[in-house]
Amino acid sequence: MVSTTLKTSKSEEIFAAAQKLMPGGVSSPVRAFKSVGGQPVVFDRVRGAYAWDVDGNQYIDYVGTWGPAICGHAHPDVIGALHDALDKGTSFGAPCYLENVLAEMVIDAVPSIEMVRFVNSGTEACMAVLRLMRAFTGREKVIKFEGCYHGHADMFLVKAGSGVATLGLPDSPGVPKTATSNTLTAPYNDLEAVKALFEENPEEIAGVILEPVVGNSGFILPDAGFLEGLRELTQEYGALLVFDEVMTGFRISYGGAQEKFGVTPDLSTLGKIIGGGLPVGAYGGRADIMSMVAPAGPMYQAGTLSGNPLAMTAGIATLELLQKPGTYEQLDAMTKKLSEGLLQAARETGHTVCGGSLSAMFGMFFTEGPVHNYDDAKTSDLAKFGKFHRGMLERGIYLAPSQFEAGFTSLAHTDEDIDRTVTAAREVLSAL
Ligand SMILES: *Cc1c(COP(=O)(O)O)cnc(C)c1O
Repeated sequence: MVSTTLKTSKSEEIFAAAQKLMPGGVSSPVRAFKSVGGQPVVFDRVRGAYAWDVDGNQYIDYVGTWGPAICGHAHPDVIGALHDALDKGTSFGAPCYLENVLAEMVIDAVPSIEMVRFVNSGTEACMAVLRLMRAFTGREKVIKFEGCYHGHADMFLVKAGSGVATLGLPDSPGVPKTATSNTLTAPYNDLEAVKALFEENPEEIAGVILEPVVGNSGFILPDAGFLEGLRELTQEYGALLVFDEVMTGFRISYGGAQEKFGVTPDLSTLGKIIGGGLPVGAYGGRADIMSMVAPAGPMYQAGTLSGNPLAMTAGIATLELLQKPGTYEQLDAMTKKLSEGLLQAARETGHTVCGGSLSAMFGMFFTEGPVHNYDDAKTSDLAKFGKFHRGMLERGIYLAPSQFEAGFTSLAHTDEDIDRTVTAAREVLSAL
């Protein structure tokens, strides 16, 4: 049922037990492999570009724990810093100097961020930034884009990407209509649709939130002028522009997509990489807006474990590694080689594909393309993707178990890893 070549008996046993203990056997839906068929493999350990499962199979990993592992898993500098930090305790619940250090690094790096608040996940960061958008403007409506994912908070579960897209779910039960009645949606890369929403709701829209490069409906780039157009429209209508850089922050460039594209939003959210593999999120932006956050101002938001010393430590060590000269040139060149290799292997074996890469992010759809938005992404041959995914897994390549997730590379991936991946892809695709 699962595979002919992989030994998976221990994974199967553990996953079967997990399904009786936790809904779907997982702590987060996409991990269950539902959309690609077959069972997930259960990881035992990770290091560098590799993961090992409980049956002893080794994989070249292109998920990187969904983004944080940009320096490679369990980097010795990060682990070493964590060992030292651990001796001082696991949580303070009081001001901690490490928060200053990471805050300063984030403020120096990300153009829009003058002040920052740390939280514990990307979801939390997006929930808080939405409250702040509304608090600052005194308006309630927000615009999000179809197929963009901003965490699992009620207000954002409208045409959401990531697991919602992967499982083909309609908007989730349990979300009251009142929670989403102020969430307006537009297709990604469609400035005219955004303009129409502003015209239909004058003085009512607090702001626009988006993934400046989409990773949660597969990998989708902003069209030329799209980000600039949103910057102009939001300014014209007195609304805020918010980049959700939970995925793209410190990945598309050290300063995120906003630095790469030269468009500065009013507020930004971060997560994933800035926690170096520990649970973290952050939101930040213009000092006049951030000054509304309690206790400086009246907008309430708090967290028992926020600014946790271990998470700050892993984040600081990770950003220090990324500051080394040549980091992003290396990531970009390697990822381009991978992406072009995969596209070429697919075309030469008779498949219709489109895709691309930017810095350490890539994607490939089984459709003619080009893919500008979620509707385009949905034209991909999902059954074929499922077979491709399983074939790659059997050859020791761990890809995100969904067509609607971007792929991630890291500084630990070598030329040889890329070559092995492309060779495996050619074998799998020629048999499809
Ligand atoms: C992962 C992600 C989130 C949610 O972050 P969690 O830490 O999973 O809560 C929000 N926005 C984007 C763009 C993401 O990629």
